Amino acid sequence: MTFENSEAIDPIAEAAMASMGTYAISPTPDNFAIWYEYHSGKNPNLQRTIDIVISNRRGFDGAALKELHNSFFSTTEEQQVLRQTSLQVMEAAQEVLDLLDVASAEDNLRIPLVDEIARTEKTSFSNLTRMLEHLINETSEMAKRSDHLGIRMRRSAEKIEALERTLDDARREATIDALTGISNRRSFDANLNELAGEAMNTGEDLCLMILDVDHFKHVNDTYGHPVGDQVLQFVATTIQQHVRGQDRAARYGGEEFAIILPRTPIEGAAKVGEYIRIAFEKHKALCGTSQQPIPGVTVSIGISCYDPGEKLLEWSARADTALYQAKREGRNCVRLGMLPD
Ligand code: GH3
Ligand code: MG
Ligand code: MG
Repeated sequence: MTFENSEAIDPIAEAAMASMGTYAISPTPDNFAIWYEYHSGKNPNLQRTIDIVISNRRGFDGAALKELHNSFFSTTEEQQVLRQTSLQVMEAAQEVLDLLDVASAEDNLRIPLVDEIARTEKTSFSNLTRMLEHLINETSEMAKRSDHLGIRMRRSAEKIEALERTLDDARREATIDALTGISNRRSFDANLNELAGEAMNTGEDLCLMILDVDHFKHVNDTYGHPVGDQVLQFVATTIQQHVRGQDRAARYGGEEFAIILPRTPIEGAAKVGEYIRIAFEKHKALCGTSQQPIPGVTVSIGISCYDPGEKLLEWSARADTALYQAKREGRNCVRLGMLPD
């Protein structure tokens, strides 16, 4: 018999549980979230930090884990969903582990190794897949007869699979700005860190562009906040239409957006900025059911090129200063934040 869901157990969740066992980490949702993120490979900074702790053999006591959690997980609503789902994954895993007790308790059921697995691995959640596969194989005859144990194990595996899909969706949503659908500030900060590290290694140019909608308060005051929201959606779409695949656009704050441009010298970034600025001059946002054109939505743009090794805050401050210069010098223009001589 093949058990169709046995391969559906997410290897990331399995690896997270195994690591928590290896480092004797108590199985709380926050801790699971840390180790799930670590094994997902999607958070290089978290990975680097944990790898350093491992190589220093400093261990993961409660304080270290709390610090990791504070540094890498915010308490946004999305993160709460993430944690809640992590908890549910663990509960589902616990149900599978409880089945071990049922299996062991049934007199007529001789499952080699079950006692040993239950004894040694119950508290650590490690080798979940191994346990499941083993149990499923050993109980295949029962499952054929629709035995209650086989059915319950299948349900548990399905539940874990569904929860892990939810976890994945929640992870994705945690990086997206709800209004405009482009990356949010949190995701932007992570990208900036990652790409600056990459630029330091490769020596390639990396530019940062900050865009601010001109007189946006006036748009809200004249047409109302809901129309203002639609204009912001239009701004996000227009920006995305004018960047290449490698560039990362994000909503930086209220009516501010940012784009990170890898492998792009400042002259190239200036051209992209001008191209975007002109796009706003040419195309008006069409809002509401009547598709009312909103005139005068322009953007001011500040750009700076990363100086390898400089503090990220200094780099973004140079783009900010250039943006304020653009505002001062009449708005609807692009300015560059050069390095001091
Ligand atoms: P400037 O050209 O100097 O940038 O002028 P401004 O009016 O764009 O700048 P200011 O900072 O005075 O106002 C920004 C406005 O953006 C105020 C705030 O209410 C509005 N805003 C921020 N976030 C949102 C949002 O999500 N939706 C809407 N509709 N408005 C927003
Ligand atoms: Mg602003
Ligand atoms: Mg503005």
